[in-house]
Amino acid sequence: MRRLILLFTMSLCFLPLTVMADDVLFYGQVLGEEVPAFNEADEQIGTLNINGRNVTYSDNGLNDRVLIHIGNTNTYIDRQFIQQSTQEVPPSSKVPLGSVKSLNTFTIFEKTSKESTVLFTGTDEFSFEVLSVLNGYYEVEVAGLIGFLPVSQAKPLFTDEDLYFNVIQDSLPYYEMKNNVLVKRGSFSKGTRYSRVKESAGYHVVKFDTRTFYVPEQGTLATKVKPVVKGPAKAKFPIKVLPEKEVDVLNVNGDKIGTISRGSFVDIYSLVKGKAVVNFFGQEGRADMSAFVHTNLLSPKKNVSHAEMSYLVQVFAAMYPEFMKLEQIGKSVEGRPIYAIRLGNGKKEVLFDASLHAREHMSTNVVMEMLDTYGFHYLNKTKYAGFNVRSSLDAVSIWFVPMMNPDGVTLVQSGAKAVKNGSLATRINGSSNFARWKANVRGVDLNDNFDANWNKVKSSTKKPAFQGYGGPRAFSEPESVALRDFVRRHSFKTYISYHSSGQVVYWFQWQKGAQAARDITLARRITSLTGYSIVPPMYLPGSGSSADWFIHEKKMPGLTIEISPYVGNRPIPLKYWDRIWKQNHKVGLFVAQDAAKR
Ligand SMILES: [Zn+2]
Repeated sequence: MRRLILLFTMSLCFLPLTVMADDVLFYGQVLGEEVPAFNEADEQIGTLNINGRNVTYSDNGLNDRVLIHIGNTNTYIDRQFIQQSTQEVPPSSKVPLGSVKSLNTFTIFEKTSKESTVLFTGTDEFSFEVLSVLNGYYEVEVAGLIGFLPVSQAKPLFTDEDLYFNVIQDSLPYYEMKNNVLVKRGSFSKGTRYSRVKESAGYHVVKFDTRTFYVPEQGTLATKVKPVVKGPAKAKFPIKVLPEKEVDVLNVNGDKIGTISRGSFVDIYSLVKGKAVVNFFGQEGRADMSAFVHTNLLSPKKNVSHAEMSYLVQVFAAMYPEFMKLEQIGKSVEGRPIYAIRLGNGKKEVLFDASLHAREHMSTNVVMEMLDTYGFHYLNKTKYAGFNVRSSLDAVSIWFVPMMNPDGVTLVQSGAKAVKNGSLATRINGSSNFARWKANVRGVDLNDNFDANWNKVKSSTKKPAFQGYGGPRAFSEPESVALRDFVRRHSFKTYISYHSSGQVVYWFQWQKGAQAARDITLARRITSLTGYSIVPPMYLPGSGSSADWFIHEKKMPGLTIEISPYVGNRPIPLKYWDRIWKQNHKVGLFVAQDAAKR
């Protein structure tokens, strides 16, 4: 019958659908307690308890009943229970969050409390549009009135076409499937919206970052509104870390959008103000770095740039404030930061540096891999190569300066275009191939610029060069000044300067007596660890090397370790990495342990 009216209206009159008989809205007062509500088939499907209140209804074309909407469900009550009125019931202005379907027994309350007045009790499945979610209740409409349906008495209504969902419950867990068991990987905060690829047995299937997650539909509502989120900028040096506890994820405005569970791998994209930038289901999120631990941060069999080294030491320091400390000790000629990072809480300290010579940048890999490996074992309180890492480093800390000559390394690794003074360097070099370059960017060999009787050095060249020029005076360069001042602020018990050519250990700078005996003993121990040879004393009247200056300055051992067989005037080929690490992996811990007695 109604269908006929519809066809008639549409085909002959072209009147808007709103004038269809059952869509004409009236306002009326319900008179009567426990008013039975029926479906179209005349079966009772509920009871209305809104005696004396105004509702919206429409004439359904039946003589004895009127139509009211309980949510989206057509419900009929006897006409005798309603008295038409002119008092309007204003429609809700809220945009529905999504739809739910009730259980076949449910109650709608006046307030978000089971103690409040019951507006309607249903004995069939009804569908509702949800206006909000409050204290475990869905806000729904009952004939134009607002009512509250307990969340436990309804299920979210999804179709296969629904691709987006609103999270309506706080701490809604998300899972990953592991051996056919769902394992919790974190949670979503209320109020955010996500995309799913499909539904599976009451769960949304959410694909993200090559992983598949499962989110219970209960706790969400379908929405047609596509999530608009901004992902983080591409990760330059992606790092996989593990949360050691559940970590909160905030959006860029600082609002919590979810959590990541302990043990669920996370990619760190970058650091912003010491916080980890993560990709949280497509959205840029921020998390506290100290909640994470690393597994194996550095992939050492590659060239490590100044940018990557800088990022890694910042990641380490932010991840382990309890046993690492980062300090910028100076800047290069071109303003690149020179970093020092401390590992351990020992009051006594030793110092390692690397890449004072530009082309010898594999030495940076050696000290970074020490930081990575020793840091891992310190954290886990495990032994490494026979050393009790934590107790060793809590007696004697190691400071690493992983890249003393950032401009020079950048020049060697990336060419003249990568530095500001590229044309000057090219002129000094006489070539655009910088493979042989050892100096800083303006042609001063930093390992000839320290002051161990620098004035008595017979320099191989008096002008800027790819190697061998000691500068206009001792400590003329910001890089050597940075190390000098850093050393003067500390009482280092040993200094190891990592270089790369020749598989030898230098130790001598005119030491005598007990000092000489002590230092050569240390040098011999290191040669037996590494398989390198000791360089015999050379009795040079002056030196510009950092280790010789250290011996002068501190009267403590200062050793230069050359890690590779001589390969000519060029960087060490990466194929040597494995053996170099094998030869040097204990040196840091050994030197720390050796220094404990001083
Ligand atoms: Zn060198």
